[in-house]
Amino acid sequence: MNIEQPPLQPDNEEFDPGHAHSHGFGFSHSHDHHGLHEYLPAEQPTEQPAETLEELDERLRRLTIKTLWDETPEWFGPEPRKPRDRGSWLCFLGTGGSPRNLLSQVRRTGGFVLNLPDFMMHIDPGPGAIYHANQFGLDLTALDAVFVSHGHTDHYTEAGVVIEAMCRIMSQRRGAVLAPAELLDNNYITAFHQGKVTPLANGPYRGGPAVTLALQAQKPIALEGSTIVTPHNAYHGGENYGFSLTYKGLKIGYTSDTSYIKAYRKSNGEVVSVTSGLRLGEMADFAGIADYYTDLKENYSGLDVLIANAGYHHAFAHRHFTAYGLVHMLKGSGVKLCIMTHLDSLYFTNPGLAQDMARYVQEKSGVRCIVPEEGLRLEL
Ligand SMILES: [Zn+2]
Ligand SMILES: [Zn+2]
Repeated sequence: MNIEQPPLQPDNEEFDPGHAHSHGFGFSHSHDHHGLHEYLPAEQPTEQPAETLEELDERLRRLTIKTLWDETPEWFGPEPRKPRDRGSWLCFLGTGGSPRNLLSQVRRTGGFVLNLPDFMMHIDPGPGAIYHANQFGLDLTALDAVFVSHGHTDHYTEAGVVIEAMCRIMSQRRGAVLAPAELLDNNYITAFHQGKVTPLANGPYRGGPAVTLALQAQKPIALEGSTIVTPHNAYHGGENYGFSLTYKGLKIGYTSDTSYIKAYRKSNGEVVSVTSGLRLGEMADFAGIADYYTDLKENYSGLDVLIANAGYHHAFAHRHFTAYGLVHMLKGSGVKLCIMTHLDSLYFTNPGLAQDMARYVQEKSGVRCIVPEEGLRLEL
């Protein structure tokens, strides 16, 4: 068979191995094939003289210094990069809980941001926090505090990253880091990000958090804008805290990951302890709650907004809030809005199931419940 070979060089073009834009690599020119030429710089119009290496060197030097000078003040300064947003809102950078969701990223895992007219706090910055904050247009250089509830990867992994944002590439001494002593003592958050070391005493990284506080249950912490954060125990494994927060009459709560039901009653009256011994932590044949953490019901009553890490409908009750537990806690609590987050991925891979669980809790408890859309500002 006689196969006609394409010419090595296009017709009417002299082959000049010294010309920067010549086709000299021996790759096919056919667009049916992918080759290195697709990743090479696009050809410049032939009428423009090629930039010499000396000219390229000059342009690289000029743009490097010009851009650094232009952009440095917005990063290394006493003000946030963008003018502070004076609104009051919550923005969720993730609504997924459970290790399966963490690894599959069915829902994001960046925690959430509370923004008030003169106070901004990032809560539980898990993997993806900085990426999604940027995607959703949040300026984390305006943060005044970072709250980490406990030492699970979906809650603390990007704490160091958002602390660097809060401290404006560690150039400023500002903001508060709030975390369990267990995380601080064991360097889940590094000494540098706790503000304890200054690697370059005379360099640009002289900043860090102004305060780093080990959380203590029921010990209120005064922060920017007359904000008071009071940590509350969470029952989940390891040192772990939720909080209630007051700001000029506004009351907001966050449960963190916690169990609520200690024991439940079956339809035959038998009382069953909620322990890891239950397969998948399932409360099978649930007929009512026999025992629960009364402090949680007290701590999260009377709130304008409660953010509840509602992991499962009726499973893993020894480690997580369930819909049954949430109904019990919300009933008669005076909570005006419950935002359910940190759900297992199964509530999203089964279409509509997250919203269905919210509807179940709302109708049983009488408290408005939602599962938020990630990235939206929920006005307070
Ligand atoms: Zn979690
Ligand atoms: Zn956890």
